[in-house]
This record gives sequence, C-alpha cells and structure tokens, in this order.
Amino acid sequence: MIKECLHCKNNFSRKENESIGYWTIKKYCSSHCKGKALIGTTKSESYKQTMKERMKGKQNSLGCKRSNEFRENLSKYWTNNPKHNHWIDGKGHERNKERSKDMSRFPYRFWRESVLKRDNYTKTMVIR
Ligand SMILES: [Zn+2]
Repeated sequence: MIKECLHCKNNFSRKENESIGYWTIKKYCSSHCKGKALIGTTKSESYKQTMKERMKGKQNSLGCKRSNEFRENLSKYWTNNPKHNHWIDGKGHERNKERSKDMSRFPYRFWRESVLKRDNYTKTMVIR
C-alpha cells in the first residue's frame, strides 16, 4: 500500500506498527510533514488556542489557591446541606445508583490533592 504525502509529495508506505484504521486517515509521510502542512492554517491556530485554554484550566485546577477555595466552598456546602444525598454517610450509591458516578468524583479529587501535597506540588511544575 502506497500513498502520496500531501506536503512533500513523496510516496510512503504503511509501517508495520500502524493500524489499518490509522493508515486510511493518514495523509502525510511523517509527523514532521504533518506539522509543516498544518502551520499557518486557521485550523491549527484555533487548535492551539483550544489547547492553550485547556492547559490554563488544568494549571488552575491543580493550583493551591483555587483548590483550597474549592474545598472551603465545598465544606460550607456540606455544612449547609447536611442532608444532601451525595454524602451523608458515604452510602449514597446504595440509596441512589444514578448518583454513583458523582460519588466517585469527590473522593478521587481529595485523593489527588493529597498526593499532590505529599509531592510538594512538584508535578504541577512538569505540566506545561
Ligand atoms: Zn511528507
């Protein structure tokens, strides 16, 4: 199977480790050509913007200030709504199975924060 690269016009063939599905949508001989071909297009600009916004959101959600604020609000919320069925005794999923997905989020979040605190937030420095 041979294709012509849309960027450099060279012929290229399917590599052994590439799936048929990937090969059918592949348009460039290499990621290098793909990158070159996409530079300057409006699509890549908007894609970059989207990625920028996404990464910003990630850093904020991992940041110390934001998450403390979040936890404060959350604890206030639990105090003001002690009968909230998500978190009376940790058995919300037994009373309401539809809520079981929400249930799993909060413990996970606290677990993640405790891991980050233990590592002194060094992981946030790695994320760019
Ligand atoms: Zn190429």
